[in-house]
Amino acid sequence: MADIIKLLPDHVANQIAAGEVVQRPASVVKELLENAIDAGATTIKLIVKDGGKNLIQVVDNGKGMSVTDARLSFERHATSKIQKAEDLFNLNTKGFRGEALASIAAIAHVELLTKTELDEVGTQLKIEGSKVIAQEVTVTPKGTSMLVKNLFFNIPARRNFLKSNQVELRHITDEFHRVALAHPTIAFHFYNNGSELFNLPIVNFRKRIVQIFGGKANSKLVPVNEETQVLKISGFVNKPEFAKKSRGEQFFFVNDRFIKSPYLHHAVVAAFEGLIKPNTYPGYFLCLEVDPGTIDINIHPTKTEVKFDDEHTLYALLRSTIKHSLGQFSVVPAIDFEQDPNLDTPYSYKNKQAEIPQVTVDASFNPFANEVEKPKSTSNAAGTSFANYTKPSNKGWENLYEGLGTKKDDSAPFTSMEFESEVITGSIFKEEKVEDESVSTTFQLRRKYIVTTIKSGMVVIDQSRAHQRVLYEKFLKNITIQEAVSQQLLFPISLHFSTTDVIILKEIQGQLISIGFAFKIVDKEVVEITGVPLQVAESEVEMVLEQLILDYQMEITGDSFSQTDILAKTLSKTLSVKTGTVLGATSQQALVNDLFACKVPGLSPFNKPTYVTITENDIDKKFI
Ligand code: ADP
Ligand code: MG
Repeated sequence: MADIIKLLPDHVANQIAAGEVVQRPASVVKELLENAIDAGATTIKLIVKDGGKNLIQVVDNGKGMSVTDARLSFERHATSKIQKAEDLFNLNTKGFRGEALASIAAIAHVELLTKTELDEVGTQLKIEGSKVIAQEVTVTPKGTSMLVKNLFFNIPARRNFLKSNQVELRHITDEFHRVALAHPTIAFHFYNNGSELFNLPIVNFRKRIVQIFGGKANSKLVPVNEETQVLKISGFVNKPEFAKKSRGEQFFFVNDRFIKSPYLHHAVVAAFEGLIKPNTYPGYFLCLEVDPGTIDINIHPTKTEVKFDDEHTLYALLRSTIKHSLGQFSVVPAIDFEQDPNLDTPYSYKNKQAEIPQVTVDASFNPFANEVEKPKSTSNAAGTSFANYTKPSNKGWENLYEGLGTKKDDSAPFTSMEFESEVITGSIFKEEKVEDESVSTTFQLRRKYIVTTIKSGMVVIDQSRAHQRVLYEKFLKNITIQEAVSQQLLFPISLHFSTTDVIILKEIQGQLISIGFAFKIVDKEVVEITGVPLQVAESEVEMVLEQLILDYQMEITGDSFSQTDILAKTLSKTLSVKTGTVLGATSQQALVNDLFACKVPGLSPFNKPTYVTITENDIDKKFI
């Protein structure tokens, strides 16, 4: 049989390699920024357009390349950074594989401008899909400009696979953050579609964190410093009270390289044990310096994972150092699970001071108390805890049922027609004449469930999930038909966010307006709120917006990416009546009616069941 194995031509091999190195525009950004850093640049400019799909440019003032090097740099395995295998274990540069430029040039249109200090003139090189199109002598300042256009132009499947420009931009911003944080001694500029997103002059690490995450970041930071023979740790952790429900500001840099390490992450979380609530994560910005000979960076295509020789020691050191730092900055005594009722408030509510009486639950409170009496007891000093519990439901909750709550005959607005039109509810309520029932057709169980009777038995409704469903559909409708009612604020509220947060707010401004928010972006970090949706209390605005931004960021990799959906979900989650809230008869009834008037009454927006039915039959069986 004839020989069948052939060596792949270089451009094919490069395309295959590109599959590993270049997943999306952000990967190109990372490689180009790292090359600029390796070239010793002190100022780096990043320019992107259309989420990097059509243009990514990195301009540096580094050492530049000679004519020959410029040409060679696009060859596969062409690198100036290592020469022999042993060098792999003594790396002081970001790059070493000599693969990035060859890979990028295989799948995009690349234009290089470069000049070294000593050369009189520079080199211009154009490459499209690994083919050199033009090479010229040119006038250009010292340093390198690498322009990458039309990414994946020759691999349509990959190009189609890319997410929206906004999502790709966010990935790019993430990479930018990582590189810029690791190198505070380099100035960075970042432009998107012609406007400046970041302008970061040379500073120290702490200030770089603040440059990126906004002024608020500064007060959260607790310094961490430790030096041992095997390891130097420096950087910051966020104070425990700023721990978030979602992963976000967590950065490990090993020898100035951003890495992901679930193992070391665990060490940090372990140091916070007892200081943060379960399922919340501390923020951290930690720089580890180790002997390059004790780590292997060559274990992952994008070099974001590192193998340490002695992980266990690192773990222990990291954990104890952080514990010590938290203790030293007297963070620990301020937080005491046994004593401090503030801890019953989620950390995201940190700015809203929890009042102690709010947490001392009035166990003797009668959930069947008549709704009408509530406002009275709210103003009654004796019923403090009661008042506090009913307050939230008065705010967002009863507004919802405007017109309903004030009527004596509160079931009237929700006609049985809507019940019958629903497949699920039809079978439950069809023969039940809700209007004829007295107020006591519903009752609240353990401040968590609403129980109501139906012909075949009873329905137990999870009040929080049910309200989420109701709000979710309401917000979806508002956004779609743009009919939200906004309450104008007498005094506009100025809120501070990080630059990235403000970018996100800008992205979703349209939707926010359609649900009733009115705001203007004053500068890169300040937003002035002039109106809020009817359901949102003034004191909740910041928390609601922060949650929105957070959820929006989290969705970055989610498949069902839809701004509207995220907004509606977040708002429903944030504003829904919670477990533990006492609901009066009118509110209970309204919730039941509203739930079954929903398109999908059976599920919360997060796909959890909202109610269960217990039939007479089920009950009968218990008595056998
Ligand atoms: P690696 O970074 O792994 O060496 P690359 O493909 O990223 O591989 O780059 C190939 C070579 O091109 C580098 O080793 C370096 O010598 C040169 N090079 C790339 N970018 C720059 C730059 N911005 N300034 C100077 N030299 C560069
Ligand atoms: Mg490189």
